[in-house]
Amino acid sequence: MSSMTADHLTKQAEIYLDILCNDLPNRRVGSRGNRMATDFFEDSIRAFGFKTEQQRFDCMDWRFGDVKLTVDSQSFTASVSPYSLGCDVQGPLAVVSTVEELQRAGLTEKVLLLGGDITKEQLMPKNFPFYNPDEHKQIISLLEDKKPLAIVAATSRNPELAGGLYPFPLFEDGDFDIPSVYMKDIEGDRLAKYVGQEISLVSEAQRIPMTGCNVIGRKGLDPGTRIVICAHIDAKIDTPGALDNGTGIVVLLLLAELLADYEGRAEIEIVAINGEDYYAASGEILYIEENKGRFGEMMLSVNTDVAGYHEGSTAYSLYTCPDEIAASIRNTFSESGTMIEGEPWYQSDHSIFIQNGVPAMAITSDQFMELSTYITHTPEDTTDIVDYSKLAEIALALKTLILDLDATLA
Ligand SMILES: [Zn+2]
Repeated sequence: MSSMTADHLTKQAEIYLDILCNDLPNRRVGSRGNRMATDFFEDSIRAFGFKTEQQRFDCMDWRFGDVKLTVDSQSFTASVSPYSLGCDVQGPLAVVSTVEELQRAGLTEKVLLLGGDITKEQLMPKNFPFYNPDEHKQIISLLEDKKPLAIVAATSRNPELAGGLYPFPLFEDGDFDIPSVYMKDIEGDRLAKYVGQEISLVSEAQRIPMTGCNVIGRKGLDPGTRIVICAHIDAKIDTPGALDNGTGIVVLLLLAELLADYEGRAEIEIVAINGEDYYAASGEILYIEENKGRFGEMMLSVNTDVAGYHEGSTAYSLYTCPDEIAASIRNTFSESGTMIEGEPWYQSDHSIFIQNGVPAMAITSDQFMELSTYITHTPEDTTDIVDYSKLAEIALALKTLILDLDATLA
């Protein structure tokens, strides 16, 4: 690799990430920052000669304010669940900690405190299409049948399913209409002592209908032979989303510049997908719909998420890649010396392609597990922890890989 190019790309990476994470407001789906980010992305890749398309969808933005929770002149600390409706309710406090207790409980006109076993993991949004365990669906439907006035969820630390948040919101679902708030388990223990007593819960929140879009850039002669390079552009509410996933978008922007003169046969499709961290995964669902019956055209898909952490190495993993493609990837990526082949993982957009039979590659940091425990989905996910040269290195390797794959079509 020419060091001129690597230096130039490293500088560009810093400029791009600074815009995405520091200049623009939060990139949650439906927000102004999200729309500014998709516009910025579209303008940038168009400047490198890509033909662009916006795939639009309806979604929801959400604003929130304070929670006031009081019993017997005691106040408790809680936050509104993301995408919850607000409320102003008074009623006796009911306490439930298992599914069996929930089945037996009468909750009409009551405020429900959930804690213990039943709140051990975040409940999947009720209409989430990709992964939705029966136990979660059962809890949601029991709650909807029993119609408590509102729900207070007391949660512990559970990094695997909620990122590094303590407490984590049990509900994060714009399709679930019982108002809810969440608090730390220790605060829940304090509140549980008031079972049966009159509780007052006031929370401010508002759902706002909006639109969002995926942005797709294309270049190359044959749309029947595609190489798809994607990353999600949205971020969790109130997080800068540097590693998750500003860096993935930066890789796409660097690659677009590297392919400014590309004239190969394979169509290169660069996709900023919008919804990986959104309860309804709207961008993912739309992308699948738009590609129904056409996933067979894809030679390879590459997804980048949580890459470029300043410590450790970039890790890539392969999913059902034919031997020649796998060999080409391994040659290109191990040549650089600092990227390694890591464990398979499934918690991001490469799953879309795997489920539709497309050979897939995922690029992340080898410290992915630790990062999703303490950093991603928190305000700590800032540009300070990014190594820009790693992003340049990924983009350069992707360009080499694309030219290699395209050469096999000649
Ligand atoms: Zn992500």
